[in-house]
Amino acid sequence: MTLSAAVASFCDRTFQVKLGEESAKGKDRRDNLLIDNRLFLSFGVHPKDVETFWKYRKATAQRLKRLMDMSRVVAFGEIGLDFTVAEAMWDRQVSTLEYLFEALGETIRQKKLPLVLHVREREEMPTRRKATWEIRTVLQRFFPAEYPIQLHYFTGRAVDVESWLEAFPQTHFSVSGAVRNSSAEKKAGVVAIPSDRLLLETDAPYAPVTGSFSVPHDIATTAKYVGQIRRTSETAILALAHENAKRFFGLPIGNRAFDRRESV
Ligand SMILES: [Zn+2]
Repeated sequence: MTLSAAVASFCDRTFQVKLGEESAKGKDRRDNLLIDNRLFLSFGVHPKDVETFWKYRKATAQRLKRLMDMSRVVAFGEIGLDFTVAEAMWDRQVSTLEYLFEALGETIRQKKLPLVLHVREREEMPTRRKATWEIRTVLQRFFPAEYPIQLHYFTGRAVDVESWLEAFPQTHFSVSGAVRNSSAEKKAGVVAIPSDRLLLETDAPYAPVTGSFSVPHDIATTAKYVGQIRRTSETAILALAHENAKRFFGLPIGNRAFDRRESV
């Protein structure tokens, strides 16, 4: 397998601060991200990190705006709601999304950057206390229904695929290697994803397929697992994911080569 491109999502604040530095060091760090012309970027705020974000929200939003100007940026995120944490944190996560979209929504929409969403549920909650319901309510205020969305680390059921596509028809479902150990109901969710809405990810380093952490190269094993569930070959899944990612993120692969000396 040859890796033709990868989109790396950076939602770690400490790293973004180092990257955003005006100094020569900051520039070096940004240049380093451009050395491999197969690497595309996305910056966001992890929903579990909202307390720190809130403290530095203005500076962080400004920094994210600057980072979005890097030519290799092809999406915004990850951002989202993670309701597996204490309920007391949920409102802050929602306000963080609203703050980010109020500050950056216009830039995101102008640049047509797809949204990379992290959505995690606490299973036993009623519909209106579900992360999915809350995040759609926020999204509908800031983005048209046709806006492209990547549900990263998707582990939903068939009914979840359906309801996302109904609310946001351009939703793409990104499946990781963790799918191998998921329930029959969630595997049926993977089968329910329309072929042109399937993406693959490794969630590196968090979703190990072998060993104790994942790396981008694990995408082939991920494709194998997804192929087993959808009863098709690893190669067919890789080809689908390649075409879908290229279209979804607007990756210039197979068109013009990106030059490592391009300006940031
Ligand atoms: Zn995530």
